[in-house]
Amino acid sequence: MIPEEKVAEIRERTDLVALVREYVELKRSGTSYKGLCPFHGEKSPSFYVHPDRGFFHCFGCQTSGDALSFLMRIEGHPFPEAVRILGERAGIEVTAVDSETERLARQKRARREQLLAIVESAAGFFVKMLADHKLGPMAWAELDRRGIAKETVETYRLGYAPHGWDELSGFLSQRGYSPAQCEEVGLIVPRRSGGGHYDRFRHRLMFPVSDAHGRIVAFSGRALEAPPGDERAQREPPAKYVNSPETTLYKKGDILFGLHEARVELRRREIALVCEGNFDVLALSQAGFGNVVAPLGTAFTDSQAKLLRRYAQTAVLLFDSDKAGKKAARAAQPLLAKAGISGKVVTLPPGDDPDSFLREKGPESMERLIGSAPSIVEWIIESSAADAGADPAAKADAIESLGPVLASIDSPVEARLYVERVASVFEIRDIQAVRQQLRRGVRVARGQAPRRRGAPAPAASAPQAPRRAVRLSKLELQLVGAFIDHPSLHEHDRSCAEKVQELLTSDDLRAIFHATTRWVGSRGIDAAALLEEVSEDSPAREWLERRLAVQEFEDETSARRFIERVVQKLERDRVARENKRLSREILEARRAGDDERADALMRQKSQLFRSAAPPSAATGTEGTKR
Ligand SMILES: [Zn+2]
Repeated sequence: MIPEEKVAEIRERTDLVALVREYVELKRSGTSYKGLCPFHGEKSPSFYVHPDRGFFHCFGCQTSGDALSFLMRIEGHPFPEAVRILGERAGIEVTAVDSETERLARQKRARREQLLAIVESAAGFFVKMLADHKLGPMAWAELDRRGIAKETVETYRLGYAPHGWDELSGFLSQRGYSPAQCEEVGLIVPRRSGGGHYDRFRHRLMFPVSDAHGRIVAFSGRALEAPPGDERAQREPPAKYVNSPETTLYKKGDILFGLHEARVELRRREIALVCEGNFDVLALSQAGFGNVVAPLGTAFTDSQAKLLRRYAQTAVLLFDSDKAGKKAARAAQPLLAKAGISGKVVTLPPGDDPDSFLREKGPESMERLIGSAPSIVEWIIESSAADAGADPAAKADAIESLGPVLASIDSPVEARLYVERVASVFEIRDIQAVRQQLRRGVRVARGQAPRRRGAPAPAASAPQAPRRAVRLSKLELQLVGAFIDHPSLHEHDRSCAEKVQELLTSDDLRAIFHATTRWVGSRGIDAAALLEEVSEDSPAREWLERRLAVQEFEDETSARRFIERVVQKLERDRVARENKRLSREILEARRAGDDERADALMRQKSQLFRSAAPPSAATGTEGTKR
């Protein structure tokens, strides 16, 4: 028996494309790769591999699966053997399959099952208390106030945590659960003195929180009005929400409230509505928008975005229209982009949240808002422009802050359209200026450029003695950088690579440049090996260390375009220099009456223009003056 987490780790760390390529020739096709299926005979490729998802599918014979199933199928290995082989490749040790590890794994599973059972019986207890407890009506009053229907209460299994200190702990101990276990799942809290425990959730409306498999792993408890006679609660109202602490079962950034309830509708509509609060989820769900989730007790996280991506391709953010809601929407953009989710933003009228909007305007208006929601990038552009107003400095800052947002867009066409959009929304005619400001924003975000105004230079960047006072040409650094990002350029564009080699004036840079040829055709360069090419005190070393941590050219095409432009520009510069020199010498020769020499120089000059690449109007100098 191999622990599940280990298998997951191995799957995660295995490069499926590389694995498949040991058997099948693959070619890129959009985000995926395709080739001839190894599992059935075919003449045109219908075997697709998605690198990021680690999944393959053959449209011919319908075989599909992950790295493990690929290896099992193609080599005929049994599962444990396939795990061991891939583990070795990924550098993950898979402990021998013996009865001891099997026993431990079984023990661990059993323990988890028991913890889940405790949480499940607590959920049952809260549901029963909502129906039976004498203060249950106070929870119902809150539900009524929010317009939550009985069916919704049942769907989401809402409950009531009774008033008092040990109602739940008493119930759980009757069931035979130990205080230690109940504490481990966050339901009870040890008393500060005198031993014993008390209930974490008291006199609260309870929202159970499920994992993606629908197992309840945590709770979110909403405060209710103080019960009659409880003067202390009347004096100092408790926190509005209390959520379970992080436990063995529950990591808050990994869970989306309502996901399990929403899963069918999510898959059906392929759109997820993401809102801020539990009540928003309930309100939308009962208004017919079943595809709704909310992050719980946190801002939207990376793992929540990834989790969501398994169910939907589009996420519509329905955050409050206040400042915090706007900030949350902006913060979600890079996470959605990274997860491959296309984001949209619904802007609610000021002062409204989804819940209040639905009650005032009804589901049709909500449907219209969702249907006409702008893309998140569009929304960010518009709201930044609105915030910046007409002040030129504020505009410049706002455009700069949009740099990283636009840089996260994969499609070059889309990115270009957004640049134009920025120019038009900010009312700036000069699109090159906009581009420059955006690029600056990217460099600022990467820590490669100082902020425009305000912040004084941090102490850490106080001038230090340079390792050696040699200035490396910025253009040369950028050229070599392009080959670090995409070593395959050596092969794909040989003539450009040769010209770059000629252009480099620094020995170190030439060494680095040459070394990158070793990674032609591989997934990426080996940073440690490349660093060995330059000595510790070399001026290029510092640059290389920085440069290895970032990728400036996301795709090879943009790198190639950049190189082509630079090479062309440098070539033009060379021609211009030569031309000037020849013209001067011709003039001197004529003045000296040496017509023979002047004619020879004339021939050289016309030769020069013939050999030079015809300057094309389409390839300006854009991007070369950074
Ligand atoms: Zn096939």
